[in-house]
Amino acid sequence: MKRLEGKTALVTGAGRGIGAAIAKKLAADGALVYVNYAASKEAANAVAKEIEDNGGKALLCQCNISDYDSTKEMIENIISKEGAIDILVNNAGITRDTLLSRMSEEDFDVVIAANLKGVFNCTKHAAKVMAKQNGGRIISIASVAGLIGNIGQVNYSASKAGVMGMTRTLAAELGRYGITANAIAPGFTKTDMTDVVSDKIKEKMIASTPLRTMGEPADIANAVSFFADDRSRFITGQVLSVDGGLSIV
Ligand code: NAP
Repeated sequence: MKRLEGKTALVTGAGRGIGAAIAKKLAADGALVYVNYAASKEAANAVAKEIEDNGGKALLCQCNISDYDSTKEMIENIISKEGAIDILVNNAGITRDTLLSRMSEEDFDVVIAANLKGVFNCTKHAAKVMAKQNGGRIISIASVAGLIGNIGQVNYSASKAGVMGMTRTLAAELGRYGITANAIAPGFTKTDMTDVVSDKIKEKMIASTPLRTMGEPADIANAVSFFADDRSRFITGQVLSVDGGLSIV
C-alpha cells in the first residue's frame, strides 16, 4: 500500500513550478490531489492529466488564495465532496522585487496578501476540518529569504518570515488535534520565479550556494512528501531548509 493511500491533499499554486512537482509527488505517494491554480488553467490541467496518466488521482480547483471568501468556498467544496482534507500544502506565492526606496505600497500589499494572508486563509478553513477528523498535515513553503533576507525583497522576505512564525504558532495550537505544521525554506530553485533573473544573477546565486547548484522542484517535493506522512509524525513547528546550504554561509 502506498504511504498516502486514502488521503486527500490540497496543493495551492500547483499548476506550475514547485507546486506542480509537489502535486505529482503526493499523487505518486497515493493521495487524491486537488490541484489549485489562480490563472494557469491549462498548466494545471496538464498537471492533473499527467497525474491521471501515471495512475494517480487529481482534481482541479480554481481560487485566488489572497481572497478569504473564495478560499473558504474552495475548501468547503473539497470537504463536501471528500469529507476530509488530510494534507494542506501552502505553496502558492509571488514576488514583486525592488529596492525599498522604489517599492510601492501596492508591491508590499499584494505580496503579503498572497504569501502570508493566503496561508492564513487556507489554513484557517482546512484546520477546522482537520481538528474534527483528529489529524492533518499543514506544510507551508517559506523561503531562504525569510531566514537571511535578500536585497530587493523587503515584501517577500517579510511574508516568508511571517509564514515561519505562523507555522510555529499553528504547531502549538493544533498539536492537541493530531495536526502537525511544518515549513520548508527552499533556496534558489529552477522555476518561472527564478527564470526571470539575469544569467549574471543566477551565476551569483549558484556561487553563493555551498552545493554550487540550483535546486530542482522535485527536491522540495521530496521534503513535502516526508512531512505529509507518518515518517514525520513526531515533528512539528519546524522549518527545514532545502537550499544547498545557502542559509548556513
Ligand atoms: P512560480 O513558478 O512562479 O509559481 C507560482 C505559483 O503560485 C503558480 O502556480 C501560481 O498560480 C501560484 N499563485 C500565485 N499567486 C496565487 C494566488 N493568489 N492564488 C493561487 N495561486 C497563486 O513559483 P515557484 O518557484 O514554483 O514557487 C512556489 C513557492 O515556492 C512560492 O511560495 C515561492 O515563494 C517559494 N519559493 C520559491 C523559490 C524559488 O527559487 N523558485 C525559492 C524559495 C521559495 P497561477 O499561475 O495559476 O497564478
